[in-house]
Amino acid sequence: MVNLEAWSELTNEFKAKGVTLVAVSKTKPASDIQALYDAGQRDFGENYVQELVEKEVLLPTDIRWHFIGHLQSNKVKYIAPYVHLIHAVDNAGLLAEINKQALKNNRTIDVLLQMYIANEDTKFGMDEQEIKDFLQHFQPHVMANVRICGLMGMASFTDDMEQVKREFTQLHTFFSHLATTCFAGKPEFKVCSMGMSSDYGPAIEAGSNMVRIGSLLFGSRA
Ligand SMILES: *Cc1c(COP(=O)(O)O)cnc(C)c1O
Repeated sequence: MVNLEAWSELTNEFKAKGVTLVAVSKTKPASDIQALYDAGQRDFGENYVQELVEKEVLLPTDIRWHFIGHLQSNKVKYIAPYVHLIHAVDNAGLLAEINKQALKNNRTIDVLLQMYIANEDTKFGMDEQEIKDFLQHFQPHVMANVRICGLMGMASFTDDMEQVKREFTQLHTFFSHLATTCFAGKPEFKVCSMGMSSDYGPAIEAGSNMVRIGSLLFGSRA
C-alpha cells in the first residue's frame, strides 16, 4: 500500500530544502510505482537488476531510474540503455564497464561513488583513501561516457542518532572537499546521496541533497 499522505508531506519538506526524493520501490509491485507516479513522483530507486528490468518495461518512460544497490559488472548492460543514476560505484572495473555500456548505447551515464562510513563490515564502499586513489587513477578522457556526480553512503544500522549524524557529517565533509579540489570547476559533482526512512533527518542536517526512502512510502518489506 502506497502512503500518499506521507509522500506529499515528505515531498513538500524536501522541496523546501532542495533535497531530491528517490522513492525506493524494491520488492514492491509496478502498480505501487504507478500510483506514486500518478501523484507526481518521478525518481525511483531499485537495487536488483532483474527486478528493475521487469518493471521498467511496464512503466512510463519518463521515470528517472536510480540503481542504488550493489551492481555486478556483468549486469550493467541490462540497465545501461535507460538508467538515470548509478549510486554505488565502488571499484574501477565496474566504472570501466559502465563507460563501455554507455558508449554502446551512445549516451553518458551519471554515477556516484559509494563511500564506506558505517562502523560495520557488512556494507560496500570505499574509504577516503581508496576514493582518493581511485580518483588519482581516473582518466576522464578514457572514460568519456561516464560522469562522476557525487558520493553516496549508508550509516550504521543503529539507534544511536549521534553516531549516525557523525558518519553522515564525515561523508559530507569529504564530499565538499572533493567538490573544491578534484572536481573544482565541474558543476556536475553536486550530489550527496545519504539518508533512508530511519535516518533521513540527520542525513539532511549533515548536508544530504538526495535521500532514498522506501518503507515510509511503500510500507515495510517482507
Ligand atoms: C532499501 C534501501 C533504501 C531504502 O530503505 P528504507 O529503510 O526502506 O527507506 C535506501 N538505500 C538503499 C541503498 C537501499 O538498499
